[in-house]
Amino acid sequence: MKPPPFEYHAPRSLGEALDALAGAGEHGKVLAGGQSLIPLLNMRLAAPAHLVDINRLAELAAVDVEPGGVRVGALARHAQVERSEEVAAAQPLLRQALRLVAHPVIRNRGTVVGSLAHADPAAELPAVLTLLRGSVRLARPGAVRDVAAEDFFTGPLESAMEAGELAVSAFFPAPPPRSGTAFREVARRHGDYALAGIAALVALDDDLRITSATVACVSLGPVPVLVDVTDAVGHRPPDSADWASAARAVADRIEPEADIHATVAYRRHLAGVLTEQALRDAAREAVDA
Ligand SMILES: Cc1cc2nc3c(=O)[nH]c(=O)nc-3n(C[C@H](O)[C@H](O)[C@H](O)COP(=O)(O)OP(=O)(O)OC[C@H]3O[C@@H](n4cnc5c(N)ncnc54)[C@H](O)[C@@H]3O)c2cc1C
Repeated sequence: MKPPPFEYHAPRSLGEALDALAGAGEHGKVLAGGQSLIPLLNMRLAAPAHLVDINRLAELAAVDVEPGGVRVGALARHAQVERSEEVAAAQPLLRQALRLVAHPVIRNRGTVVGSLAHADPAAELPAVLTLLRGSVRLARPGAVRDVAAEDFFTGPLESAMEAGELAVSAFFPAPPPRSGTAFREVARRHGDYALAGIAALVALDDDLRITSATVACVSLGPVPVLVDVTDAVGHRPPDSADWASAARAVADRIEPEADIHATVAYRRHLAGVLTEQALRDAAREAVDA
């Protein structure tokens, strides 16, 4: 099918883009990589009257490694972030997750910030931002605000972004010292959206005892679900931690839905298995840090 008619805007500066979006209000949509929006338009599941294409705004393609983390501009492609050694050193979870996002051709076009703006609970990056307690920077003419991940994702394909706002960047905080991260998921085929996925972060003290253990869940609720399992694993060395107890805590906490691919019981089972695997991986990385 062909998309419904729309007015196409091709701004040459951020100011022009913000003006075009503000003018369009609730009838406007940003076009970034187009990997989610174009199929929605072609299937006529979305019908914005105005499309504001940000692909000419080179200033939004920056990926900056700052002292406290990584700031990813709205036009930075998945592949650009995934391949950056500097980013991988500053925040390894980004590469660990991006490798699981779709296929290389899609990662060449799709953007990290576009994925966050799309707010699909089956996508990897919203869980990454939630686990790391990152934020999204939103702009409109004359105003900029940062929204924390925990407030940004409000439901399936819904976010705190208001009509007329552009997500200009996202900030992924650096991991704490002596910590490790991991991402595990199960998909029917490599590159498919995950049936269930878990991002994990484990931090240790100088005696290599666990000080914190948290996970964020993919495809296991309407938004990325953040679960702190520090109490379940205790303040013990990773070798003697009760990872199975953490897995049970996560499986009990989530409220997955059934669909044609998986039952509620299967998703809950996957959540437990993946939690244990991801936490063990993250703890191993933390010990080696
Ligand atoms: C076959 C296939 C498989 C895929 N598999 C996965 C997967 O396994 N995991 C995964 O996470 N993703 C997957 N994707 C989606 C892919 O990662 C997209 O790139 C991503 O979801 C959206 O990024 P985009 O830049 O293409 O955004 P677009 O498609 O351009 O936009 C998506 C939505 O976000 C809005 N938007 C985009 N950028 C901004 C911005 N800066 N400010 C405000 N609003 C904005 C748009 O208006 C639109 O509503 C898949 C896509 C395809 C086609």
